[in-house]
Amino acid sequence: MNLLDVYNKIPLEPKTSKGSWVTDITGIEYLDFYGGHGVISIGHQHPNWKKALSEQMDKISFYSNAVNIPIQEEAAKALKEVSGLEDYEVFFCNSGAEANENALKLAAWQQNRKKIVALKNAFHGRSLAALQATDNANILSPLGSFENTEFVDINDLEGIKKALNNDVAAFIVEGIQGVAGVFEPQEDFLLLAQELCAKHDICLIMDEVQSGAGRSGKFFAFQHYPIQPNIITVAKGLGNGFPVAAVLCKKGLTYKKGMLGTTFGGNHLACAAVKAVCETIAEENLLKNAQIQGEKLKKSLTSLSAIAELRGKGLMLGIALKSGDASSAIAELQKRRIITGSAACKDTLRILPPLSISDEELEFFIQAITQALKQTA
Ligand code: PLP
Repeated sequence: MNLLDVYNKIPLEPKTSKGSWVTDITGIEYLDFYGGHGVISIGHQHPNWKKALSEQMDKISFYSNAVNIPIQEEAAKALKEVSGLEDYEVFFCNSGAEANENALKLAAWQQNRKKIVALKNAFHGRSLAALQATDNANILSPLGSFENTEFVDINDLEGIKKALNNDVAAFIVEGIQGVAGVFEPQEDFLLLAQELCAKHDICLIMDEVQSGAGRSGKFFAFQHYPIQPNIITVAKGLGNGFPVAAVLCKKGLTYKKGMLGTTFGGNHLACAAVKAVCETIAEENLLKNAQIQGEKLKKSLTSLSAIAELRGKGLMLGIALKSGDASSAIAELQKRRIITGSAACKDTLRILPPLSISDEELEFFIQAITQALKQTA
């Protein structure tokens, strides 16, 4: 049977991985500055993660939410401790889109409203409600529509003053816009959004699917500011490669038994992965490492004349190139044994390395990008 041919692929076939490195089938080792698409947080094949999964596998790997799953409580406790978030309850599910789907449904139920306000160039996933908040008509199915969505520019204060009113169920914002090309909502924008959402009983949903789990140098990117969203979604780095996502709901949201559910979500293995990831982020001080290494990286890159702009925080950086096209730089970096990512903005190279990246690995990247940009200038 053939595979559905839906992906544009990096020309690479990984066979093994360890820490920040991926080895392909020919034995070439690549430094993974793409983190397996923003997923690898504590490092490929981290021993804590492997131990937690194999120990759980020896006990019980799966039973559905039809029964009590105590490791869900342990994962929730670890998530609370590493994020420092009080007053939230968590629903575990399987993917970023599913987390946003549930978040948007929950928001719509609160005041029985169906209008969504989202940001231009946002990406929230490929399920139907998430797609309605995703600013890309090319991937919207005829089953969905933008009829109930209003898109506003990121950081447009006047725009949200007009858009956020008593008809709106949810205002959904990425902690840092990833797919778009790494664009950050500013503090004044988020504070105004929070105020308007409170005034009009709108759920403020922070989509931290990509920017969460420590990537920005705080556990959630919105935690750089005094924001308390009604709902937070997180996925990618939360399982370090084991598929898992979470919807964090501020206490007080209205819900009833049966309104949300999933067969696989929050299974034993997924929760063992979440617990190991959260505990390892805390034990190895990875939030600090992400912050420090991100700053070092920005400082070193500012001297490169081919770079037009550096965006982002921690280890979620967008490098916009003056040439206007990042694809040749990405290819040159791959020749120099580094994997990086692209973005919707064609001029931008996206980097999302593991949070555990070392000084030597950083230096390897800096040397390589310096040469690659000279080659492509
Ligand atoms: N939200 C954001 C901000 C994302 O970056 C993504 C995926 O890239 C998603 C949601 C969808 O996540 P998933 O691919 O796990 O469904």
